[in-house]
Amino acid sequence: MKYKRSLLKLSGEALMGGNEFGLHSTSLKQYAEEVKKVVDMGGQVAIVIGGGNIFRGFSSSRIREKIISRINGDYMGMLATVINGIAFQSYLENIGICTNIQTAIKMDPIVEPFEKDIAIRYLEKGRVVIFVAGTGNPYFTTDTAAVLRAKEIKADVLLKGTRVDGVYTKDPEKDQYAKKLENISFDMAYQMKIKVMDQTAFILANENNLPIIIFDINKEENFKKVISGEKIGTLVYKNKKLWKN
Ligand code: UDP
Repeated sequence: MKYKRSLLKLSGEALMGGNEFGLHSTSLKQYAEEVKKVVDMGGQVAIVIGGGNIFRGFSSSRIREKIISRINGDYMGMLATVINGIAFQSYLENIGICTNIQTAIKMDPIVEPFEKDIAIRYLEKGRVVIFVAGTGNPYFTTDTAAVLRAKEIKADVLLKGTRVDGVYTKDPEKDQYAKKLENISFDMAYQMKIKVMDQTAFILANENNLPIIIFDINKEENFKKVISGEKIGTLVYKNKKLWKN
């Protein structure tokens, strides 16, 4: 196994499957199965869950723009991640994976508060930990929360599960000559303005030397393959030498 402890960022978009909103049961089941495969081979899995399938603070809805402030919208977005976290915990536990949820915003009877040392202990015991409520602060995203939590729990890698299988030189849907990149530096990722993760997250990961792998989470076995060290998706790195062996 190449990456013993990983942090998987699951976006709200992934959780809604083919739907336009909310949760898609088949997708949740499928992701839970993929997580189980990694846990079964001894991998330690933490997850930061998004909320965009329910609410995005910077949504351009005219009604929201006029009535709900950006900050309140962001808090609503963070609460949306709690809903997703509870849902995904249920799907994991349903297939026998013990799962704890830790939140950046305290809500006692529902989920535990975030504590890095306790989270690490859970992971060492083979439990999955889902981090919800992002960073706990407005104006951030769950991508940034994923980098932050990955560093705090000393994860070996951050995995960004998406619907595409990596970073391309151009938009593969528009350009037949678009090529998938096996790895790129953070510097290149900034220059290319790739949209698969937000720039704040990339900057934080670069400054703190956290490798990110962007891969297609919908393809069966992909999560396990990435953890095992197979070259799936695109690796975004700070120092190539540190991460290639
Ligand atoms: N959010 C926030 N602070 C955070 C994380 C999230 O304010 O630290 C809010 C923000 O409004 C965001 C929403 O929660 O739009 C949902 O998170 P995100 O867009 O990152 O979810 P994803 O795109 O992964 O589904």
